[in-house]
Amino acid sequence: MKTIGLTGGIGSGKSTVSHILATLGAFVIDADKVGHEIYLPGKEAWHKVIAAFGRDILAADQTIDRKKLGAIVFGNEEARRQLNAIVHPLMFHDIARRIQEKRAEGFTAPIVVEAAVLIEANWLPLVDEVWVVVTGKSAVLARLAAQRGLSPQETEARIASQLSDAERIKYAHVVISNDGSLADLRTRVMDEWQRLVDSSPCRAR
Ligand code: ATP
Repeated sequence: MKTIGLTGGIGSGKSTVSHILATLGAFVIDADKVGHEIYLPGKEAWHKVIAAFGRDILAADQTIDRKKLGAIVFGNEEARRQLNAIVHPLMFHDIARRIQEKRAEGFTAPIVVEAAVLIEANWLPLVDEVWVVVTGKSAVLARLAAQRGLSPQETEARIASQLSDAERIKYAHVVISNDGSLADLRTRVMDEWQRLVDSSPCRAR
């Protein structure tokens, strides 16, 4: 059964789609959570990030203070590239290990890797299909203002710092448009899920 890479812009609905897929029986690997775990004190990423950016990025409890690190890399393209060059390959291996372990347990339903940076981080070799969630800017602005209190300027700045939807769609096997209701989204995701299950040699129960 396939491994799906689920990506899309900020607030496009990736987590919502992941949640729907999980209720249908998928195993979801959230790259954000993997990112947090690899930064834990003593881990390889922790050592490498300190070597690159200094101990000033540490909080009192020796964890990496992501706000301090964010302040260094925000708007500094070279620093951001350096950080990504450390973290993305380590995350790649961690996600690969999680996929292997789940399959080794005998899990036969789809596995979903939810990652905003799936394409930029060169994680495409981890997945069999790329699903891109696409939502018009006006809906994203409205949803993120209502749900997270982000101003239109804050949302626009984040959108501008990411790959465009046009770029993402070039890699997509499936494009999920999420401009409608949550019920519409669920129907769309269930259709794709059914296609996956129907096309699998060993059908998920
Ligand atoms: P991020 O990139 O910030 O992690 P995301 O792509 O995972 O965001 P979600 O968190 O799934 O996006 O969705 C953003 C917000 O929009 C959430 O509050 C979610 O409940 C809401 N949302 C998603 N899809 C819809 C929809 N079709 N109708 C209404 N609200 C929606």
